[in-house]
Amino acid sequence: MRILIKGAGVAGLTAAHELLARGGDITVLDPRSDTSATASWYAGGMLAPYCERESADEQVLELGLKAACWWEAALPGSVVRNGTLVLAPARDIRELDRFGSRTSGFSHVDAQELANLEPDLEGRFRRGLFFKEEAHLDPRRALTMLAEKLAASGVRFVSGEGDGTFDVIVDCTGYGAANPDLRGVRGEMLVLQTRDVSLARPVRLIHPRFPVYIVPRAHHIFMVGATMIESDATGPITARSMMELLNAAYSLHPAFGEAAILETGVGVRPAYADNFPRVQREGKVISINGLYRHGFLLAPTMAIQAAAMVFKYEKAA
Ligand SMILES: Cc1cc2nc3c(=O)[nH]c(=O)nc-3n(C[C@H](O)[C@H](O)[C@H](O)COP(=O)(O)OP(=O)(O)OC[C@H]3O[C@@H](n4cnc5c(N)ncnc54)[C@H](O)[C@@H]3O)c2cc1C
Repeated sequence: MRILIKGAGVAGLTAAHELLARGGDITVLDPRSDTSATASWYAGGMLAPYCERESADEQVLELGLKAACWWEAALPGSVVRNGTLVLAPARDIRELDRFGSRTSGFSHVDAQELANLEPDLEGRFRRGLFFKEEAHLDPRRALTMLAEKLAASGVRFVSGEGDGTFDVIVDCTGYGAANPDLRGVRGEMLVLQTRDVSLARPVRLIHPRFPVYIVPRAHHIFMVGATMIESDATGPITARSMMELLNAAYSLHPAFGEAAILETGVGVRPAYADNFPRVQREGKVISINGLYRHGFLLAPTMAIQAAAMVFKYEKAA
């Protein structure tokens, strides 16, 4: 079956992987000349279904629990399974308890346990929540590895209209989709580098306005994210957001004050009203969209659902 996938973000590439595994003849079309329109490029890469449950439905937890295994099976060595730490400054310690009351899958850690987990944070926080089963990956590395794996297996990547006709089109164009039910949720992030701090896992800091987190990557690089603004504006990060993200990093460890700012970035998360993604079919077009803040967490499940729908459609046709 000839399948055209529109969009090479996390939705498109995971769909390509699942459709290829079922014998599809796949072309991926993405006209982008840079990454600025691709939310996936700016993601933190947290695979944190328990933490996300704080503000998401139970379904996000249930489906998200499968994500780390999917990524590890697709891209061996891409997933770090060191859990997540959730911390709060002394003044917001009650908020830590509130976070705990809305989630599961964690243990309470005291200052000593915290120092054992993250030696560089010794003496800085009195207690925290440790979500041992959670994981993370480097989204840019994962997307690049996945595209290379697909290309090596015969998937064609094109930037102009695909050649010829297709039996099925899978629309994975994120916020670029002409879908009035979607809204954009702007996410601003920073990339910092310092040799003076080491972290083994993502650390979330309770923040009054949006969930702030710091995700360690290779080469002493840290992604600091992310704002949640009801807007599809793609303009540069604002001074206020930059200050808030930097403040969070600095309050986690003052050595971040001397870090190099390698990059600032803005991605627009595609979201439906209930913040839950959908796989939908209209004629020969199947769409995967609305991944909101759960692209890496939920795209594998959505891709499997879409692949099942594509081949069911073939049988019926
Ligand atoms: C700052 C930030 C942090 C995040 N952190 C996390 C995280 O830690 N964990 C997590 O799971 N999720 C996270 N997310 C959410 C995640 O990034 C998104 O849910 C996900 O990237 C959406 O993927 P997508 O493939 O649907 O869209 P996109 O990544 O936006 O990809 C859409 C693609 O379609 C292409 N396109 C557009 N129009 C067309 C067209 N007409 N034809 C063909 N192609 C087209 C675009 O060029 C683009 O490449 C974060 C998001 C942001 C912004």
